[in-house]
Amino acid sequence: MHRNAIILTLCILQSPALLAQAPIPDWCRALPRPEYKTLERVSISDSWFEVYKPVPGVFAIYEPHQAEETISYLIVGEKRALLFDSGMGMSDIKKVTAQLTELPIVLLNSHTHNDHVGDNWEFSTIYGMDIDFTRQNARGSRLDAQAEITPGQICGVLPKGFDSKAYATRPWKITAYTQDGERFDLGGRTLEVIATPGHTPDAISLLDRANGLLFTGDTYYPAPIWLFRPETNLDDYAASILRLAALAPKIKVVMGAHNIPVASPTVLPRLVAAFNAVRAGKVQPSPDSPGKVLYKVDDISFLMRAPAAH
Ligand SMILES: [Zn+2]
Repeated sequence: MHRNAIILTLCILQSPALLAQAPIPDWCRALPRPEYKTLERVSISDSWFEVYKPVPGVFAIYEPHQAEETISYLIVGEKRALLFDSGMGMSDIKKVTAQLTELPIVLLNSHTHNDHVGDNWEFSTIYGMDIDFTRQNARGSRLDAQAEITPGQICGVLPKGFDSKAYATRPWKITAYTQDGERFDLGGRTLEVIATPGHTPDAISLLDRANGLLFTGDTYYPAPIWLFRPETNLDDYAASILRLAALAPKIKVVMGAHNIPVASPTVLPRLVAAFNAVRAGKVQPSPDSPGKVLYKVDDISFLMRAPAAH
């Protein structure tokens, strides 16, 4: 939900005239992000998505035309593939995955915010956490989805046939529960579930130990990390990032769920240090949209609830 909205808001405040002219949002002007230049691009038939292959057997399915800049990952083994998130549900990610692999696909979500579950309804094998928050979100919603297409949220052209009025997160069926420590054997590649609650109670990361890959969902991505929603628990988040940081020596690439698909594992201990500094009151926040503040420590930032006034 508006990962980059703050930038547009500031831009409008500074230039009221832009409002009338349906401005190109600043986040959109920042595209294409330079980090993508070094990644192998894979051509597909749907222009809503861009697909990259950052490492062998992993496809980053990126949605650059919407402010979330959501990234879903298709991780391919020899016998089956695992789709880690299904994106915004604005185009058809299932068709894209069919162009990338013929193997059966298991779907797992990094967490169940609307921008990661949009095309869940299309898949028949969906694992979910055994948590009320997950079950509640699996009922679908219209409000969160509609907020994603308000002015300033779209960059470029909507997918062919997209119906703005009908846009909603469609309900999906959780076909099996998963839990911390579960291993998914894809054939020649194993993924381990690491429960990383905090951003949401159902947040998980995936570890491909043999290949040194860590998929972090919204627990870490290289943009302001959202920690302001009612379902966010800061103590849980602190414990989760500590757990991920302990893995850093074994990791080669960190892959988050927004903006840019590759980050260095050195970011993990820095993430812990930055978050600890914020919680210790050592970082001066800057105001954001009403009720929210941004804490920035070097290249890491957290969007959080504004501290209660004294
Ligand atoms: Zn999220």
